[in-house]
Amino acid sequence: MHAYDVIVVGGGGAGMAAAIEAADAGARVALLEADTRLGGSTSLSGGVYYAADTSVQRARGISDTAEAMFQYYMTLNQYRVNAALARTLCTQAGPGLEWLVGMGVQFPPDLLYASGVENVPRGHAAAGQGAEIAEVLDREVSRRDIDVVLATRVTSLEVSGGAVCGVRLDDEVVNAGAVVIATGGFGANPYLLHRYYPEAAQQDDKAWYIGSTHCIGDGLMLGEQAGAEIVGHNRGLLLTTPNFRKELEVYVPGWLMYVNREGRRFVNETAEYAVMSGVVQGQTGGSCFAVFDHEALEAAEPDPRYADAFAAGAISLNWVRDELLAQVKSGKVLRADSLDVLERECGIRPGSLRATVAEYNRDVQNGADRAFFKPHDQMRLVTTAPFYAVEIFPAIVCLTSTGLRIDTSARVHNAANEIIPGLFAAGETTGDVLGERYIGGGNSIANAVVFGRIAGAQSASFSLARG
Ligand SMILES: Cc1cc2nc3c(=O)[nH]c(=O)nc-3n(C[C@H](O)[C@H](O)[C@H](O)COP(=O)(O)OP(=O)(O)OC[C@H]3O[C@@H](n4cnc5c(N)ncnc54)[C@H](O)[C@@H]3O)c2cc1C
Repeated sequence: MHAYDVIVVGGGGAGMAAAIEAADAGARVALLEADTRLGGSTSLSGGVYYAADTSVQRARGISDTAEAMFQYYMTLNQYRVNAALARTLCTQAGPGLEWLVGMGVQFPPDLLYASGVENVPRGHAAAGQGAEIAEVLDREVSRRDIDVVLATRVTSLEVSGGAVCGVRLDDEVVNAGAVVIATGGFGANPYLLHRYYPEAAQQDDKAWYIGSTHCIGDGLMLGEQAGAEIVGHNRGLLLTTPNFRKELEVYVPGWLMYVNREGRRFVNETAEYAVMSGVVQGQTGGSCFAVFDHEALEAAEPDPRYADAFAAGAISLNWVRDELLAQVKSGKVLRADSLDVLERECGIRPGSLRATVAEYNRDVQNGADRAFFKPHDQMRLVTTAPFYAVEIFPAIVCLTSTGLRIDTSARVHNAANEIIPGLFAAGETTGDVLGERYIGGGNSIANAVVFGRIAGAQSASFSLARG
């Protein structure tokens, strides 16, 4: 007899959801976590959950469907994502949210917002951010007969006759009828970033990871031991940064004018972070420049929307006067008495910046951004010397989404598309659930909860049937 029916490796959002569902299906469950507490990156997150057709939407009078979410998901990703997995995510995201609500997570209707580039609000923000989601799941784990073992990093699976039948801890084998890998992503592992997320790795020392230090890609390595295929190459979510300091930044003011090396604007500078890093990455050199004038610098104040988070030290406000002046001294903000000189210092195509600024200023004066339709009230003239430019890099690694190949039952597959018996996976450690484009804030926690729940239920049923 196995020591456990199901062993879950990794106790973040996906792992805790899996452990709860497996226990509720009648399995004897162990949850092994490398850190000294449960939560992973889930507990550090903003706690936004992306879903359609929810009670929270209905409370706001919003009618929405999983089908519409699926069409949006596939269109934004240009169909370069596993459609069956995307469909499962879209249909189960709503029930997953209600499951969290039923356990006590609060998603206040007034915090619901359009977190992607869709026009239906689907970004459900937990009142207490990711910490609340993790605390509620942790509480539910502790209410059940689940053996939680902390400070225990699993580095090896026990495989027999091609089937996974436990994990190896030092020299001890702990047998189980099924194993769920839920170890999160590999953002904290520079080697794996080079191997699987070169777009992030190419930023060299400018790239840095904001998630749990334990997310070093162990799940990919564990899966490979059993023959799993790794899919969804070069995917994840990067956030843009002026690279002043290695601190999370979420606020980019509308008075910045972005130009690429051709000296052209290429985006509404206030576009959602979900798409911004990809757009910047696509420019010549994979970065761009934020341009502004001296009056803008003198007027740059902390945005009141982020005052609390800033005061709590949760985010960095780069776009404030004192910080910008300090970065002029450090050389990260370039200053020049004319746009022509600024253009030269940035390495922008000669003769282009002055024309782009003139066009932008005309739009500011005429009351409409005719090029990219940025809200006019956020725009400022760029007229008063000295002028400034800061290079913007897509370099903050928020999450990775290259990983183990799974099916809609969270079973792990090998390269021949065969199921690896006894092996299940969920969350950031899996690949091809999230596509090349992050569909909006909440995409990843929805993935963790939806497939975590499926992995828990399916692993329990597999293991109990195996006997
Ligand atoms: C600052 C920040 C803000 C974010 N905001 C949002 C947001 O608002 N909405 C959204 O959708 N996404 C957000 N994300 C991304 C999202 O939080 C994660 O992608 C998601 O929570 C991953 O869940 P997971 O369960 O797969 O992994 P995690 O929550 O990271 O859990 C993985 C767990 O596995 C453990 N582990 C790793 N290796 C081993 C091992 N070998 N043995 C045992 N245990 C191991 C880790 O210690 C960790 O506890 C954010 C991320 C960050 C960093």
